[in-house]
Order: sequence, then C-alpha cells, then structure tokens
Amino acid sequence: MAIDKSIKLPQKFLDQYRKNIGSRISAGITLLCTAGILCAAIDFSESRYPVMGIVMVMACGFVLACLIVGIHRILFRTSWSGTITDIDADYHIRTKNRGLSKKFIVTLTIDCGGKEPKKFELLHEDRNGENKYYTEAPYKVGDTVVFLRGMKYPMRYGVATEDMLTLFICPYCGDINKAERDTCYKCGKYLVK
Ligand SMILES: [Zn+2]
Repeated sequence: MAIDKSIKLPQKFLDQYRKNIGSRISAGITLLCTAGILCAAIDFSESRYPVMGIVMVMACGFVLACLIVGIHRILFRTSWSGTITDIDADYHIRTKNRGLSKKFIVTLTIDCGGKEPKKFELLHEDRNGENKYYTEAPYKVGDTVVFLRGMKYPMRYGVATEDMLTLFICPYCGDINKAERDTCYKCGKYLVK
C-alpha cells in the first residue's frame, strides 16, 4: 500500500507537512532524551531490578512522546491513497471512561488496490453530540483520498472546487472546511483541494 504516483500534492502543503513531521520527531526525541537524563540522574542501583527502573522511565518517555506529539502516528502508520467505494453510518459500541456508550460512527470503505478494502472510522461530535461527518457528509463515494503518515484523517484529492458547497477535511485536525478556504479555519494549516 502506498500513494498512487499520479497524485501530486501542492508544494506549500508538502513543505508544511514535512516541517510538522520534523518538529514532532525532534519533540519526541527531546522527550526521550529527558527520560534518558532522568535514568542517569535517578539511582536505580538500590532497587532489586536496576534495569527495570531504567526501562520503565524510558518507556514512560516514549508513551509521553506518543501522547504529546503523536509520534505513534508517524512511526506505526503508512501513507496510502485510494478510492472511497462505500460510506456507512451506524451505531457502534465504544468504551468511554470505563463504561460502554453507543456512538454514531461513519465508516469509509476505501479501495487501495490491495486485496482487502480499508475501513476508516470517523467520529467528530458537534455541540449537540451529532457526528459532523454524518450531518455534513464531507466525503463522497468515488472520492480519491490520500492519507499521509503522521496525520489523523484522509483528505479528498482532485475534487472540483467550483461548487462552493464542496467541503474539505483538514488532515491535521479533521475539521470540515468550505471550498472558499485555503487554510483550515480551526488550525490554520494548508488544505489540499
Ligand atoms: Zn485543521
């Protein structure tokens, strides 16, 4: 699975993307180094398993880096592109604060050229608790979508912008933007259209 070679993303978008990934990786490394320094500063020799103490602190550093700068999205995900073949919306059971709750989830089925189509679940609740991906329906069947490693959402690619009702999804924060916008109204990053 990879990005289709015919897809060309705008340069200013790519520049910002690389900068974003670069600064997140360096922030992650900083957090890990901080954990490393802590390991050196704390004397684990008195404990029964000195190595375990060091491993624990380093693991905490890594978990913190994952949570704060989303390093896991860069390390453990790949970039891909494909075509939306189906959009489904239904209630799914989700765990929340140790309880179960029913959430209305929009699921994209994406053909990436592989054997199994990819499933991508979307949930973004508005003030009334309604899923914005359902009420505003920014993705359409037949869309070409591109997902870049490190990001949260796939973005629509090659969609005509003449129609002002066309909506675009910010790959960084997932907010839904109107066609007239070049940057996301929520986080200010460049949008791909
Ligand atoms: Zn955004």
